[in-house]
Amino acid sequence: MTDLARLVRDQGLSFLLVSFTDLFGVQRSKLVPASAVASMAKAGAGFAGFAAWLDLSPADGDVMAIPDATSLMALPWQPQVGWVAADLSLNGVPMEQCPRRLLQRQRQRAAGLGFELRSGVEAEFFLLDPAGTGPADAQDHQSKPCYDQMALMRRFPLIGPLLEGMEQLGWGPYQADHEDANGQFEVNWTFAEALVTADRHAFFKVMVKTLAEAQGMRASFMPKPVAELTGNGCHTHLSLWDLEGRNLFPDPAGPLGLSSLAYHFLGGLLAHAPALACFTNPSVNSYRRLAAPPTTSGATWSPGGISYGGNNRTHMVRIPDGQRLELRLPDGAAHPYLLQAVVLAAGLDGIERQLDPGVRHDNDNYADPLPLEACGRLPTDLGEALGALEADPILRAALGEEFCRSYLKLRRRQWQDYRSQVSPWELVHGLDG
Ligand SMILES: [Mg+2]
Repeated sequence: MTDLARLVRDQGLSFLLVSFTDLFGVQRSKLVPASAVASMAKAGAGFAGFAAWLDLSPADGDVMAIPDATSLMALPWQPQVGWVAADLSLNGVPMEQCPRRLLQRQRQRAAGLGFELRSGVEAEFFLLDPAGTGPADAQDHQSKPCYDQMALMRRFPLIGPLLEGMEQLGWGPYQADHEDANGQFEVNWTFAEALVTADRHAFFKVMVKTLAEAQGMRASFMPKPVAELTGNGCHTHLSLWDLEGRNLFPDPAGPLGLSSLAYHFLGGLLAHAPALACFTNPSVNSYRRLAAPPTTSGATWSPGGISYGGNNRTHMVRIPDGQRLELRLPDGAAHPYLLQAVVLAAGLDGIERQLDPGVRHDNDNYADPLPLEACGRLPTDLGEALGALEADPILRAALGEEFCRSYLKLRRRQWQDYRSQVSPWELVHGLDG
């Protein structure tokens, strides 16, 4: 009996959702009855790769999704069903285009250098009406709605079970709040090793969307679903640990209590930021959140350029304390696995080449933005972000050329599709011109 079959039996599960996340972040699954788990566990569940975003053709053979038993979680709202993350193979060979495998390759590279990435994500989301036209809660209309107790507790029927579910799964949830936009929420759980966080991040999205649907709402992680409101960020907290479980970022003698290793990691994040953006901010809509004009709450909470500061939320990287870095670039469309993989690849390059992150900035970068010469530019649209990856051979080599070719091809196609559309704005401003 395989480990997975034993776990399924011991947990009394009747079904297993064998799940993988494709290059666009869509989760694809097959539902397998418990009686068939043992035979599936080794060979995997078969998928036609062309039917998902994997850059395969209809002529390619079956993609086999091989479940990783360590990721098994019972659905808190449907406890007879388990969810398990899978790694993809084609013709018996691990697939370069599999995002979860890409993260595993970066983890192995880190482990070879004596490091382990631990990370936490703040996956903000909106609770909208079923058509997605506005907040589900009509009473949620303050101009500064952040931490609004009444609006938070009107959503207790969803947030309460969500926290309980995370508790059951052992994630260590610790806070939930109403966020800065009307209809926006955030639920925090404890940071962990990067692959564990990525699996939880993927599952969190399923959990939030499912619970919202059951209550007649639509949960959205879209970066900027409402133009005048703060968008969905996915701020990511990062620290490198040694293989004995010691955090290597703190150093009481270093600036703001961080070690030179942490600053080199930061140097890597800053150096590769334009190319990272095509993964951390991977959708057309992502660029309506970055460097956006102020929202009705007064701030976008998103970075306007490539800079870092102390405990200051107006820069791309914040140093909240001497334990970690907070990357504020990623948004709700960030891919759970690619986010962790690319951040680790960039940070490791910073360490290997001992990159200097430059000076820290303590200005309010919203009210008083850095002059252009003091601050690198972030891409202004998806096309530019893809161009930045094409122009970054170090990051491409670290991620693998084959993976990058597939990713760039599919995203370029998406960008061209968007560019071929005529928008309502253009009609309003041009039809009678
Ligand atoms: Mg937040």
